[in-house]
Amino acid sequence: MAFPENQKKAARAAFGLFNPAQGVHIFSRAHSAEQQPVVVEVAPRTWLIQPGMVNVGLFETDEGLVMVDAGCAGDGPSLLAAVRSLSDKPLHTVVYTHGHSDHCFGLWAFLEAGEKPEIVAHENVIAHFERYIKTAGLNGHINRQQPGPDGKRWAEKPDDFDWPTRTYRDTLEITVGGERFVLRHGKGETDDATWVWAPERRVIAAGDLLTGYFPNAGNPRKVQRFAEEWADAAEEMAALRPLAVITGHGELATGEEALQDELTTLSGYLRHIVDHTLRGLNEGLMHDEIVDSLEIPDEYRLHPRLPAVYDQPEFVCRNVIRRYSGWWDGYPANLLPAPYADRAREIAALAGGVDVLVARARELADTDLALAGHLAEWAFWADRNDADAQAAYVDILERRAQQQSGLMAQVGLRWSKQYADLAAQEATR
Ligand SMILES: [Zn+2]
Repeated sequence: MAFPENQKKAARAAFGLFNPAQGVHIFSRAHSAEQQPVVVEVAPRTWLIQPGMVNVGLFETDEGLVMVDAGCAGDGPSLLAAVRSLSDKPLHTVVYTHGHSDHCFGLWAFLEAGEKPEIVAHENVIAHFERYIKTAGLNGHINRQQPGPDGKRWAEKPDDFDWPTRTYRDTLEITVGGERFVLRHGKGETDDATWVWAPERRVIAAGDLLTGYFPNAGNPRKVQRFAEEWADAAEEMAALRPLAVITGHGELATGEEALQDELTTLSGYLRHIVDHTLRGLNEGLMHDEIVDSLEIPDEYRLHPRLPAVYDQPEFVCRNVIRRYSGWWDGYPANLLPAPYADRAREIAALAGGVDVLVARARELADTDLALAGHLAEWAFWADRNDADAQAAYVDILERRAQQQSGLMAQVGLRWSKQYADLAAQEATR
């Protein structure tokens, strides 16, 4: 993956202990016995724990523990062991920073061990969990979770969740062991986000509002995200002048001045994309024209803590477009389109056959992989049983995936392999 030299460290840290070969047990409770969480001391009686790809914040008080997030389901046992190696105080309160499965599903291990914490979250987390139930199949496909021992791929009934026991709307202050913890609502990846400010320690637990890489505000296959409110939250955090921020993923963020720089650059980066997109929409530009004309200044693009390792600016731009306009891309033919395979067959026939399209796609691949990808896709959908078209489709989009720094772009481009495999299976049936 191509990262500017100064972004490599953040890029490496982005996914923590995530091992793609093992997969991520987001919903399944399966876990590996040798999983060893990383523990980082943030401040006195304050830790960042990384049981897998996600981070958890732990605050010890005289009355008990305040834990921010609970990891993936498969992280539960190793997270519990890590917490118990640091403190024997009871688990007093758990805060979910948002309803995403990698932050809420690991709590079962604590509950089964007899802990009885208050589970605090923003009120929209309830609706988030309900949406998970409604779209269990979709989430199973997107996250490509293997079915668990019970045959399920995703949470699909109320019992599958550890529901909040206390919710709030704008802000909530709780006192544990005589110490204040201020919960603030924000929006970023989701509309149900909470970040936690511990004023006496000057530590923030930010959840995914800060991750040490470019914000995941444009995820191509997920529901609406909130770039503008994300910038607001970053500015609110900066105004408190924290000494450390426990990130949702990646490395701990420390240093008063470094955090001012990181948080204000993050908000500036997002506002730059939002402003560009709104200007284009207001000028009546086509969606593609807005995305194609997006330019990112080096101060954002090369910031050491904002590598585009997961999501990327173009996708945030499209997400803003979706938020403020409809799904139609503006091309009249696309309003009521012919089936994609019909279009592909017609293009292949005009070109002189699928083999001609394939040959041209391979030729173009050395100079323009984006364009080559379209040709290969037409060739494949024109005749999905054509072995050369299948091979070209996978090869060319795989090469394009390898050029991408962002995981979401890589994953999307590699769907070509899924389609080709499926077509090959159908052909032998
Ligand atoms: Zn997350």
